[in-house]
Amino acid sequence: MDLGLKGKQVFISGGSIGIGLAVARAFAREGAEVVIGARNKERVQAEAKRITDDYGVKALGISMDVSKSEQIEAARVEIEKSLGGIDILVNNAGTGTEETVMNSTDENWYAVWDLHVMSTVRTARAFVPYMEKRGGGVILNTASICATQPLWYEPIYNTTKAALLMLGKCMANELISKNIRVNTISPGLVLTPDWWKTAGILSEKEGKTPQEYLDGIAHTNTPIDRFASPEEIAEYYIFLASEKGSYSVGSNYYIDGGWLNTIA
Ligand code: NDP
Repeated sequence: MDLGLKGKQVFISGGSIGIGLAVARAFAREGAEVVIGARNKERVQAEAKRITDDYGVKALGISMDVSKSEQIEAARVEIEKSLGGIDILVNNAGTGTEETVMNSTDENWYAVWDLHVMSTVRTARAFVPYMEKRGGGVILNTASICATQPLWYEPIYNTTKAALLMLGKCMANELISKNIRVNTISPGLVLTPDWWKTAGILSEKEGKTPQEYLDGIAHTNTPIDRFASPEEIAEYYIFLASEKGSYSVGSNYYIDGGWLNTIA
């Protein structure tokens, strides 16, 4: 199926590993030009090169901290120079947290607020003008099932992802008149390298193999009884960014193997 993404220009924050990398590779597979942004310079540049090698499309790896406004502006300048602009923006960079409300500091809260919420406001300010000039565009934000069904050990993550969900709705209402569609994707358990790292550390304490540890988490939480792969999740981004998803505006899509316990 031709999704009409050939030649589109896409920026994906956190595109050097995990879900973001799978999304970038899926866009490249469809013939889009991709820019991936992440802090680790070596990794982001190596993955951009691998995308070009594998799919023959232009790919740019930018070393940047998306929680810093001046680094978003620097990326915008570099993108304008190299690609001329952006049609599709994927706000995906994010991280889990571990704290209680009572033991967390203001600094903890503000750092994750900048990463999950302000980065989305700031990338919109940076890239929406290009979409407007081109007659439209798409913005996809990666939230989490935790935006509506919190995990007990990460209140800062839960709260900032909930805010991102509302931000997506507000942006959708504001930008649809410019033919820019904004939607949110909320994954459940997605088996990224980071999960393997966590499993490697925690499984030993429980006398399990990493695979047994991960199977246990999937079994406890998801009716489907397994993690998603990043590649499975990436297909939803491709669909929503394409004309096939043209009537989706301001929605939140759970991709969670049945983990969400409500119908809302
Ligand atoms: P990973 O930890 O695998 O990858 C995170 C990516 O974001 C990396 O490319 C990382 O690169 C980049 N990144 C992190 N912080 C910054 C920053 N300050 N500035 C720029 N880039 C940054 O994450 P996942 O693929 O697991 O998650 C992607 C998104 O999906 C996140 O928003 C996460 O909350 C969400 N999600 C993930 C789920 C899962 O089970 N995996 C479930 C639900 C939601 P670098 O470190 O080099 O900066």
